[in-house]
Order: sequence, then structure tokens, then C-alpha cells
Amino acid sequence: MRPTAVLFALSAFALPAAAAATDIQKEYGEVSRKIIAAALEDQEGLARLQYLCDRIGHRLSGSPSLERAIQWSAEEMKKAGLVNVQTPPVKVPHWVRGRESVTLLAPIERSLPMLGLGMSVGTPGEGITAEVVAVSSFDELQALGKDKILGKIVLFDPEWKGYGQTVLYRANGASRAAELGAVGTLVRSMTGNSLATPHTGALNYTVDVPKIPAAAITVEDAAMIHRLTKSGVPVKVRLMMEAKHLPDADSHNVMGEIRGREEPEEVVVLGGHIDSWDLGQGANDDGSGIIATFQAVALLQKLGLKPRRTIRVVFWVNEENGGTGGRAYRALVGDAVKNHVAAIEMDGGAEKPLGFGYGTGGEQRRRGGAAGVPAKQTSPASFQRAVEIGKLLESIGAGKMMPGGGGADIAPLLAAGVPGFGVRTVGEHYFDWHHTNADTFDKIVPREFRENVASLAVLAYVLADMPERIGDIE
Ligand SMILES: [Zn+2]
Repeated sequence: MRPTAVLFALSAFALPAAAAATDIQKEYGEVSRKIIAAALEDQEGLARLQYLCDRIGHRLSGSPSLERAIQWSAEEMKKAGLVNVQTPPVKVPHWVRGRESVTLLAPIERSLPMLGLGMSVGTPGEGITAEVVAVSSFDELQALGKDKILGKIVLFDPEWKGYGQTVLYRANGASRAAELGAVGTLVRSMTGNSLATPHTGALNYTVDVPKIPAAAITVEDAAMIHRLTKSGVPVKVRLMMEAKHLPDADSHNVMGEIRGREEPEEVVVLGGHIDSWDLGQGANDDGSGIIATFQAVALLQKLGLKPRRTIRVVFWVNEENGGTGGRAYRALVGDAVKNHVAAIEMDGGAEKPLGFGYGTGGEQRRRGGAAGVPAKQTSPASFQRAVEIGKLLESIGAGKMMPGGGGADIAPLLAAGVPGFGVRTVGEHYFDWHHTNADTFDKIVPREFRENVASLAVLAYVLADMPERIGDIE
């Protein structure tokens, strides 16, 4: 018997038959303070994020820069001492933007800042020239009907009601308008706070509806066009987009681990997505998510902390325009999904963290998600345990537990019953930069980034180390 095994056997005798719940503050208070102190002094994480942003740049699926980012990430994981570093293959859609423009032709002539929507089809070489019909809602579009929409370019200019609701116009507007005979669509950018910057993002075409090109224009220009059409002034634009779909490309997820000391087959997985739009630097979305989750694990490794179970960091590919990375990871782990103790995702930028959304499936209904799968409720005792873990983060104000949990990349895991955590931040500026050329490294506030690293490291460590599996606590 090894000395540690003796100790383990003795402590097992010392416990009553039905082991009392772990006292989180007592067991993990000291180690958490050590982790937080190390994270708040850490220089490496920011240096890595700066390298990713400035030396590799944005990372759209199918692009050479994404593949450079993947190779670099695997090397960094090895340098940090992680084991089982792998880059399992994933096929990804390969959409290319090409040149593009929107020109206002009447009542005055001027070029409008724009971004084609991801996955949109292109226009003929000469573009599409048509009169614009502006609407605030799908109801208004429907009320106008085929008579008023046929041959027109529809502008969707809905009121901003937060991303979750308003994004439906970006995602579904093109097909809704095409059903009524529109030849193209424009959409106000998905932000509540605009400085004349267009924001891209993916659209979803409905099967069996003609695919028409779609682009985002600025909130300001959308408002102007809407004012003009409301006052009866005809507006005409020319939309030109070279966007095209190439055959699916070969890409990869990236993963590395700290092996668990007692239950190495059981896993706490955390990560974000390595791809980005073909704009800016993908600094907050989601360079910050992959590097903060990675740095959390790298710090635990550096501190010599070896948890009971394995902690695995994964950089999922193709979140922005397909979600193939999250689904490929779920397929790769197969039956071992039952050994996933928790999944943690960071994909909302690195502003000041407040805590985590915590839930067990069901809440997440995005692509690859849990649609049709009955939600397994998080037990009150399990949620209470998460609250206890959150208290370890009170010194940095980052431990509030909220219902919810998860994100697009871990949705397939949550659908299989894995408890999910999603980072929640103050979210003051994320959508100012989201999917724009302004999503750049200068927007990262070092102290806030480090607080994210701290909170991820503490949560991942405690989930991987405490005797009970969080999802099993009744
Ligand atoms: Zn993202």
C-alpha cells in the first residue's frame, strides 16, 4: 500500500456510512485564495490572448488563420504541461465573404457601411438594384404581403429587445422575405448601442425557400431608410456581394488535460470556441473564452494542483457558422459522456465576471441543442452546492449562481444530461463589439480578464476535486 492509499483508507473509516456533505468553505477556502491570487498576478494568459489576436488574427472556419490558431493552441497546451493534447479532425463549412457593398441610389447617392451575413449567398456580379421596403416586425412584413414585397429588398429594422429576441431578424429574415418574393434583405445590426458600425452574424435559410442575399447595415442607416420610407420617400439601393460557399474544409477541435489523481476517467470539461468571424480579431468572441479557460487549467497545473478527476480544456471549432465542433466533441466522447461531471463554457466576452449560469440541460435549445429532450431539473441541493462553490469567489465578486447554464458548444453535452455552467459577466459592452471589426484586443481589460481566469480555475478545480458529482447531489 502506498502512503496516500493508507491515508485514504483511514479517512474512509473516519467518515460515517452516509458521508456528510463536503464543507466547501472548509475544504476549498485556502486553495481558492491561492488560485485567485495566482490568477490576479498572471501575465501569461494576456500574453497568449495578445499573440492570438495580433499575430494570428481572426479565424473564420475554412481559413488558413484558423488552422494556424489551432496548431499554435496545441503547442501552447503542451508548453503549459497539459497531457493528452490532441487536435481531433472536424469538417467545417467553408463560407467566403469576398467583396461586398451597399450603395444608396435614391433619394441621394452614398455608399453605406455594411457586412454580408455569414452563410449568405452572393448576388450577380452587377449586384441587385431594387426599391427598399422597411418593416419593424415579421407581422408587418406578413401584412404587406406578396403584392408589396415582390421584387423588393426588405429592410428589417426591429426595435432592439436584447440579442436573443432581436437576432431572429438576422437569422430568419432572408427566408421570411423570400417567401413573399423579395430579392434581397438588409437588417439593422444586432446591437443596442451603435457608433455606425455594421455587425455580421450567421443567417439560417429555410429549406425549400429561394436563397436570397442578406447583409447587415448600421443601426443609424437602417433608421434613416426607415424614416424615409415612412414619410413616403422612395429608397433605392444596390446590394453587391461576392459571398460563396466552397466545399466543407478540414479543421480540428483542440484539447488538453490535467489527469485526475483518483478518477481519471471522470471529466470536468471547459472551453470556448476557437473560430471567429472574418473581422477584427475575435478578441472577446471568443479568443477571451478559449484563452481564459485554458489559462485557468494552465494555472492549476503550474500550482501543482492535481484534482481527483480529470480537467479537460477544449477549443471547439466552428461555433459561429455551423456548430460542428461541439457536435464532433459529443460524438468523439460517445458513451463516455456519462463520465462528464460538468461542462463549463465561456462565450460572452471577458468583461467583469459576475458568476455562472448553472443548469442541467433543457434550458439550451440552440443548434445541436436539447430540442425535444425533456429538461432534467437541477435539484435544489445540487444548485445549493453550486452556490457554496460560488462563495469561494466572493472576494472578486464573481461567484453568483443563476439558473441557466451552458452555451452553443456544450449544448450537445447538456442534451445528454451533463450539468452545464456558462460564464456570466456584467455584459455592459459585449454587444457593442460583437461580430464587428472593433472586437479587438484593446477592449480586454486586464483585471477583468484575470478575474475570469480566477473564477474558471476555482470552479473547475472544486467540481473536479470534491467527492460528490455535482449533478448527482439530491
Ligand atoms: Zn462566440
